[in-house]
This record gives sequence, C-alpha cells and structure tokens, in this order.
Amino acid sequence: MASIGFIGVGNMGGPMAANLAKAGHTVKAFDLSKESVDKAVAAGCEAAETVTDAARDVDVIVTMLPAGKHVAHVYEGTDGVFATAAPGTLMIDCSTIDVDTARTVIAAAEDKGFPMVDAPVSGGVGGAEAGTLTFMVGGTEEAAEKARPFLEIMGKTVVHAGDAGNGQAAKICNNMMLGIQMLSVAEAFMLAKRLGLDYQKLFDISSKASGQCWSLTTYCPVPGPVPTSPANRDYQPGFATDMMLKDLKLAQDAAGKAGASTPLGAAAESLYQMMSSKGNGNLDFSAIIKMIDGEI
Ligand code: NAD
Repeated sequence: MASIGFIGVGNMGGPMAANLAKAGHTVKAFDLSKESVDKAVAAGCEAAETVTDAARDVDVIVTMLPAGKHVAHVYEGTDGVFATAAPGTLMIDCSTIDVDTARTVIAAAEDKGFPMVDAPVSGGVGGAEAGTLTFMVGGTEEAAEKARPFLEIMGKTVVHAGDAGNGQAAKICNNMMLGIQMLSVAEAFMLAKRLGLDYQKLFDISSKASGQCWSLTTYCPVPGPVPTSPANRDYQPGFATDMMLKDLKLAQDAAGKAGASTPLGAAAESLYQMMSSKGNGNLDFSAIIKMIDGEI
C-alpha cells in the first residue's frame, strides 16, 4: 500500500481521496478549507496542515484544484510540492486546467526527476463518489502506467491520450462538443414546441434517427423523455453552467493559441456566458434551453 498526499479535497477531490483511503492507502489530505479537510478525515484520510506536510514522505501526490494558477502555485511555489517531495515521487494532477500550464508544470517536474501526468476527469461528483470517473491522461507512457493503479481506484476508465497536456486537450475538446451538442438539442426542442410538435414525439423519433446524441438520449433538456435528466429536478446539477463555461473558455483560449478556428465553440461560450451573467451559473448546463426559449 502507498502513502499519498492529496491536495484539494473539495467537491471532487474529497470523494476521490476517500476512495483511495478505502482501498487501503494512507492518504494525507490538505485543503485551504478546514471544513473540506475535516470531511476527508471523517472519510478515512489523515489531516495535513500545509502543502509541505502533504507532500513530505509520500510515494504519490494527487492534486484536484480549481485552475491552472492554483496548480502552478501548489507545485512550483516556495514550500510547494517540488520543493518538498522525495526524489521519484509520482505526481498526478487531476484538475481541469489550461493545456499550457499543464505542459509547463509537467516539464518542470520532469526536469527535477519526478514522473508526472495530467489526468483530468469526466463524471462529476457522482462519478467521484462512486469511483466511476473517466480519466484522460497526458504524459510519458511510463508515468501513465505508474499512475494507472491509483486512477483505477478512483475511476472506471483510464485512457492514455498521449504526451503531457493531452489529457487536458481531450477534456476540453470533449466538453466543447458537449456544450455545442446541448445547444443544438435545446434549439431543436424549442423549435418543435413552436411548431406544435410534442417533446416526447421528437424524442422518440430523433433518439432513433440521425439527431441522436448523448445530450438527447441521456441528458434530455426537457422534462419527461429521460426521467433521470436534470430537467426533471428543476435543473439542479449534474454539471453546472459555470463548470461548462469554464471548460468552454479553456477551449477558446487553447483554440486561439493553436490558431484553430472554432466558431461554434465561440458561440457556445458566449451563450453559456450570457446564461451565467443572468445569475444562472449554478443551474445545470442543460437549463440553457430555458434561455433559448426566452423563459430566463
Ligand atoms: P471545489 O472548489 O469544490 O474544490 C477545489 C478545492 O481546492 C477547494 O476545496 C479549495 O479550497 C482547494 N484549493 C484551492 N487552492 C488551494 C491551494 N492552494 N491549496 C490547497 N487547496 C486549495 O472544486 P471541484 O468541483 O472539486 O473541482 C476541482 C477540479 O475538478 C476543477 O478543476 C474542476 O474544473 C474539475 N472538475 C469538476 C467537476 C465537477 O462536477 N465538480 C467535474 C469534472 C472536473
């Protein structure tokens, strides 16, 4: 069994750390929020007082932080992970962050002799609790294989997407598809309503026809056709609009730097931004249909 330092035990990191502890690993949990650390301790982790405390004398460090600036600070800052960890410590960043920061931090880790991967996730808090997350892993083959046994405790699917930063690239490309796809389904249901076509009829037809997609068949944005979709519980997330907006911004940032033209991604970003600016950032992202339909 390994000794693991887990930094960032919020909504996602908390249950992920708990699953590592349940599997028999020793997990030292650190977060700026004492409440989050207390929850992790109640779930079987040990409390760490600082980043240094979490990173000292461990075999593995896992981070689950809000954004690139937090990741850069925790790894590269004075008293950060790089300054503290023992030689050869495996480092796994599961946060969703910009591709450039992921690549810069991993290059710095490799310079110092630490194997490191970016391993952002899909699956949300439910997936983190159930240990069914999907991990998209970027880094060397060797580092990805070292990380795999730990990722397989926290998730069900682990895909090595290529070099450092490619986990983040896969995550933002997937979520850009999802954000655009949900808008297309929402617009079609709004039009159906205006044309006097019943939601259920459109669902029955399109779920078997060429409009079929995940946003329709698993996450249908209107109540009724898919009883488990957030539309049936007043759009409580699920995957919040502000989370979708974060990922669409990362995608636009990456597209700009890569010289890629993504007009639909840009349109999706501005629509979810409008949704958020109207004070609906906490609603599930499928609630965008209410804005498209002029209800909010
Ligand atoms: P969260 O805000 O609940 O947790 C982040 C935690 O990091 C907080 O508890 C915060 O106190 C802590 N933190 C910030 N700076 C820190 C520092 N310097 N040292 C120690 N702790 C620090 O957010 P979350 O929902 O758990 O999301 C974490 C990451 O997972 C984000 O990158 C997010 O985009 C990604 N993600 C979230 C979901 C989701 O459904 N919530 C799904 C997929 C991916």
